[in-house]
Amino acid sequence: MDITELTVHELQEKLKKKELTITQITKAYTDRINEKEKDIQAFVTVLAEEANKQAEEIEEKVNKGELKGELAGIPIGIKDNMCTKGVKTTCSSRMLENFVAPYDATVIEKINKENMIDLGKLNMDEFAMGASTEYSYFKKTRNPWNLNKVPGGSSGGSAAAVAANMVPWALGSDTGGSIRQPSSFCGVVGLKPTYGLVSRYGLVAFASSLDQIGPITKDVYDSAMLLNLIAGHDEKDTTSEKREKIDYTKCLKDDVKGLKIGVPKEFFGEGINQEVKESLEKSIQTYKELGAEIIEISLDIAEYALATYYIIACAEASSNLGRFDGIRYGYRTKEFKNLKELYKKSRSEGFGPEVKRRIILGTYVLSSGYYDAYYKKAQQVRTLVMNEFNKGFEKCDVILTPTSPTVAFDIGSKSNNPLEMYLADICTVSVNIAGLPGISIPCGVDKEGMPIGMQLIGNKFCEETILNAAYTFEQATKFRENYKPEFKK
Ligand code: GLN
Repeated sequence: MDITELTVHELQEKLKKKELTITQITKAYTDRINEKEKDIQAFVTVLAEEANKQAEEIEEKVNKGELKGELAGIPIGIKDNMCTKGVKTTCSSRMLENFVAPYDATVIEKINKENMIDLGKLNMDEFAMGASTEYSYFKKTRNPWNLNKVPGGSSGGSAAAVAANMVPWALGSDTGGSIRQPSSFCGVVGLKPTYGLVSRYGLVAFASSLDQIGPITKDVYDSAMLLNLIAGHDEKDTTSEKREKIDYTKCLKDDVKGLKIGVPKEFFGEGINQEVKESLEKSIQTYKELGAEIIEISLDIAEYALATYYIIACAEASSNLGRFDGIRYGYRTKEFKNLKELYKKSRSEGFGPEVKRRIILGTYVLSSGYYDAYYKKAQQVRTLVMNEFNKGFEKCDVILTPTSPTVAFDIGSKSNNPLEMYLADICTVSVNIAGLPGISIPCGVDKEGMPIGMQLIGNKFCEETILNAAYTFEQATKFRENYKPEFKK
C-alpha cells in the first residue's frame, strides 16, 4: 500500500484500526516530497524535519491517551499567504521573502489546536494574482499530469501538491477562482466557501471583499471534513458570519433525485474548448441518469463579470498593498537618498510585474477623475450580478458550469499576455463577485489525458447542497480510480 495515495478519511480509518501510525504517515509524506519536489516545485518552504519531530511527539501523546481528536497527526500543506507563527509567509514575493509572521492565522490556529502536522508552505502566484503560478518570485510549479503544463493558479502549489500526493490535503485561497481553477487543472477537488463562512484573519489580503480560504482535497468527503474544521465565526474578522455549526460530512447522501440543476447557456458558448464542453455535457447526462432535473437558465450579466472583477480586485489590491513600503512591512532597498526614494525603490524592487500592473490599474480606477466611471460602475454591476444569481436560484438549487474554459495550458504560453491569463477565470469570478460557494470536481480528461473540471455553484451558505451534488457525481463516476497523474515529461 502506498500511504500517500490515501485520502484523509482513509488515513483516519487505518489509524483507528492501528494499521498505520502517525509517524509512518508523516514519514511517507516527507519522503514523497523529497522524491517529487524537484519535478513539481510545489513548496516555498518544506518543514520535513519539524513535521517528523512533531509526529513523534503527537504519537506519544496519543498512545498515552493524552490526545484524542480525529485529526491528530494528520498532515496538511498551506498556501504561502496564510500567516504561520515562526515560519516564513512569503506570498511568493520578493517583498515578503524573509517575513516571519508573529502570529497564526485563525485557520492555522484551528489546525494546530487539532494537533495536525504542517508539511510546509505552498507556492502561488505573487500575492495570489495570477492563474498559472508562473508569477511566483521563487519558482514555477508544474502540473503533475504533464510537467510542461501549468498547475493553474494562484493556489497552484496547493493543487499540484495534492495531485502529486505530496500532501494529503491543503488550504488554498480564492479571490476570483484560485482554488477552483488549479483544482480543475490538477484533477482534484477545490471548494471556495461562501464569503464570510471562513475567517480571513491572518490571510494576507489581496481583495478583501472577494478573498476566501478553502480546502483542496483528493475527494469530496475530505473537502467536507476540512470545511468542518475551518468554518465558523471569528471575532477577529468582522466579515465572518455567525451561524450555527454544521457537520458537512452529514450532508453527503449520495442522492440527487429531484435536485434542480441550472445550466446557464452563457457558460457553454464561444471561448469554451470543445472537449471541455463535451465532457460537461456528458456530466449533465450523468446527473440526469442519477435523477436530477436539468433546467436551462440564463446568466447574461456574466459577460461583464470579468471586467467588473478586475476593476474591484485591482482597486482593493492597490489599497491593501499600500502597507508594503519597506518601512512598515517588507523588503527595503539597500541604497536611497531620501524617504521618497526609499519607498519608490523598495516597492519597485520588491514587487513583480503583475502586482505592479494591478496596483497601477487599481490606483487609476480609484482616482478622483475616474472613480465614477470605473469603480462605482463596477460596484453597480456587482449588484446586478448578485441579482441575476438570485433570479437563477429561484429556478434551481445548483448551477453547473465548466470550471475553466480550457484544460491546463503550456508553461510560458500565456505569461506574457495578461488579458489571456485573465480569461482563465471567466467561469469562476462571478461566484466571488456574488459571494457564493463554488466547488470544482474532476469530470473527465481530454485527448492528451489532462483533467477537466466541473464547477457547481450554490446559493449563499448552501455548501451542503453543492457538496452532496459533487459527492453523488464522484461516487457515480470514480474519477480517482480511473485516472492518475503520470508526471509526463
Ligand atoms: N486569476 C485571478 C486573478 O489573477 C484570480 C486570483 C485569485 O483567485 N486569487 O486575480
